[in-house]
Amino acid sequence: MNPKIWLSSPHMGGNEQAFVKEAFDTNWVAPLGPNVNGFEQDLTLFHGGKTHVAALSSGTAGLHLGLVLLGVVAGDEVICQSMTFSASANPIAYVGAIPVFVDSEEDTWNMSPTLLEEAIKDRIANGKKPKAIIPVHLYGMPAKMHEIMAVANRYDIPVLEDAAEALGSSINGKMCGTFGRIGILSFNGNKIITTSGGGALISDDESIVKEARFLATQARDEAPHYQHSKIGYNYRISNLCAGVGRGQMEVLAKRIEQRRAVYQQYVDRYSGAKGISFVAEPAGYFSNRWLSALMIDPAIAGFTREDLRLGLEKDNIESRPLWKPMHMQPIFSKYPYYGTGVSERLFENGLCLPSGSNLTQADMNRVFAIMDMFIKK
Ligand SMILES: *Cc1c(COP(=O)(O)O)cnc(C)c1O
Repeated sequence: MNPKIWLSSPHMGGNEQAFVKEAFDTNWVAPLGPNVNGFEQDLTLFHGGKTHVAALSSGTAGLHLGLVLLGVVAGDEVICQSMTFSASANPIAYVGAIPVFVDSEEDTWNMSPTLLEEAIKDRIANGKKPKAIIPVHLYGMPAKMHEIMAVANRYDIPVLEDAAEALGSSINGKMCGTFGRIGILSFNGNKIITTSGGGALISDDESIVKEARFLATQARDEAPHYQHSKIGYNYRISNLCAGVGRGQMEVLAKRIEQRRAVYQQYVDRYSGAKGISFVAEPAGYFSNRWLSALMIDPAIAGFTREDLRLGLEKDNIESRPLWKPMHMQPIFSKYPYYGTGVSERLFENGLCLPSGSNLTQADMNRVFAIMDMFIKK
């Protein structure tokens, strides 16, 4: 059996262990310390220097805190992109709110601004104005944030931007995660950089990020004893994980370049092939190409995405269907959904391919050898 080729695996830069060793040497083995501060500073600089950052234990924790900070409480409605990983939607349930799912558009595969407005109007007509909007930048491709923000502002609804997959992606140079009132990032093991597990909440509003840090460390009021006037959480990142993050930040720009080069290889080889399509960057959009994905029209291509997935699997190569939309998930199917079937088609025919920055050319050639057996030029 050939060795496994992963969809997306951790790729260390070299200095991660030095930061972790320093944490041990100085006994900063705690959910605070110099690496946490340093990692937050690195992330602030990366986002242009004005964005405030709270490093957290996960991206999911960031979304949960984000909803709490926006004042979302039990019984409220929250609009969420339907096509996404379940972690975008689960925190809505954590606070007892009701998710309202919105379909994608074809250009970026992310939340349709048109359907978003339709959903808001209909929810208001039903008697309840949504309390927050969660758009997602899938696979690194920025959602249509200018249009989404225009709709959100028209109805005065705050945006909580799920940029877990889009660290380093931008529109006209403005970073994903900085469009909404609050953004979140993820550093899970399969993301473009990793802290083994971790996340961040970011905002241009310093008071929001201060409050996030307060809530994330058990909401301890200023007092010599432990005193609490709010419900707290244990959501800070450990100083060890943040050390890994500092090492990873040194190579982030390179990782983006490498992921984009992997994607470009697929495009160069297969764009224009029968029944195969890719999602190009709209003008001004920059995707980190976290995952390389393609669409297969089985009627034209002569095979399905499942045929290709199983073909790759036979050679020990991991690939994965696009995210199954939340409105199709057993746990979420009872909630309101506004859509025209775009995300259902994407799920049916889309496949994510090996995309890691650590893929060798020999790995790529193995993937191509299988794909060439299916794809006709
Ligand atoms: C990974 C991911 C998350 C969750 O991040 P964790 O750090 O794994 O909790 C949220 N949303 C999306 C779209 C993701 O891909």
